[in-house]
Amino acid sequence: MAQNINVENAIVVGSGPAGWTASIYLALAGLNPTLVTGTEHFGGALVYGTHVQNFPGFEDGIAGIDLMDKMKQQSKNLGTNILLDDVTNFDLAGDIKSLTLSDSSVLNAKTVILALGAEYRKLGAKGETQYSGKGVSYCATCDGFFFKAKTVAVIGGGDTALHEALYLSEMCEKVYLIHRRDKFRASDAMQKTVLNNKKIELILNAEVVEFKGNGDVLNALSLKHKNTDGLTEIATSGAFIAIGHTPNTALLTGKLVLDSEGYIKLESDTSLTSAKGVFAGGNAADKRYRQAITAAGAGAKAALDAIAHLQK
Ligand SMILES: Cc1cc2nc3c(=O)[nH]c(=O)nc-3n(C[C@H](O)[C@H](O)[C@H](O)COP(=O)(O)OP(=O)(O)OC[C@H]3O[C@@H](n4cnc5c(N)ncnc54)[C@H](O)[C@@H]3O)c2cc1C
Repeated sequence: MAQNINVENAIVVGSGPAGWTASIYLALAGLNPTLVTGTEHFGGALVYGTHVQNFPGFEDGIAGIDLMDKMKQQSKNLGTNILLDDVTNFDLAGDIKSLTLSDSSVLNAKTVILALGAEYRKLGAKGETQYSGKGVSYCATCDGFFFKAKTVAVIGGGDTALHEALYLSEMCEKVYLIHRRDKFRASDAMQKTVLNNKKIELILNAEVVEFKGNGDVLNALSLKHKNTDGLTEIATSGAFIAIGHTPNTALLTGKLVLDSEGYIKLESDTSLTSAKGVFAGGNAADKRYRQAITAAGAGAKAALDAIAHLQK
């Protein structure tokens, strides 16, 4: 005899700005969504000690952890069923999608919204974790404001690193651009602009081996120079690590179309993935903007697309 299975309208995976926003829209549409938070990064990337200045509605800014708590509370008040768990397997092929959780239980739904985020790549150098949020940052647009008229360093050699160095040169007194090779990967045009910028000083063939400070804030970087094997130290108030991101999409390989870097491919101007009934938003599908507000906006788009799909 066929077993009755419980099929939900919509499951959202991820508890960053994209996930909470999607769940709020779905709940307001009366669809009783379930949101699986993830356990390793419950609340998403913003909970890591950052003060958010660029999310509208908070005239003095707001601690990332408080912003995420407010989003969670809003979603909860509207009736979202919140599960503190991880999805360990996605079956997205049929009309009914099945998501396996860490205890092997299975959730079924007509639509799924993937709001899985992306990890900032870490250097792995001594002091990096200790001074994260205390001088070490992974986002110039988010944190550059705190280093007005100060000396900062950007670490990396691609377009993002050079773009961040240029962005910071507008507000900082001096910007060191530190790269472990003798050539940048960034476009020629970008390199030319950087070379012509008097505030940016290049330090090539050098690796950061330690982030140093007084325990509370960063104040120096220890560098190892490839050509001499020697160590030097530079004084700096901020260090922006720009060595790339890894979208949290490993579990989706072979199940959805991903681009060469693992980001979820979307149908242009929508949140539609390559699987019918599966939508995505936020940093797992966006390597360009990577902001809390753009992730929240993408979560809203995903929910609206899921609602339209359910109405068909
Ligand atoms: C230190 C720091 C400071 C920042 N400061 C700012 C700032 O000031 N302003 C700004 O606009 N942006 C800032 N950002 C960027 C901002 O945090 C991101 O753009 C935003 O969080 C992306 O939202 P998201 O919802 O796409 O992903 P995330 O916030 O990364 O959330 C992804 C979610 O997916 C979950 N997840 C992943 N895999 C699974 C799984 N298998 N099962 C269940 N759940 C899963 C995770 O647990 C997490 O909850 C900062 C980022 C960092 C790291």
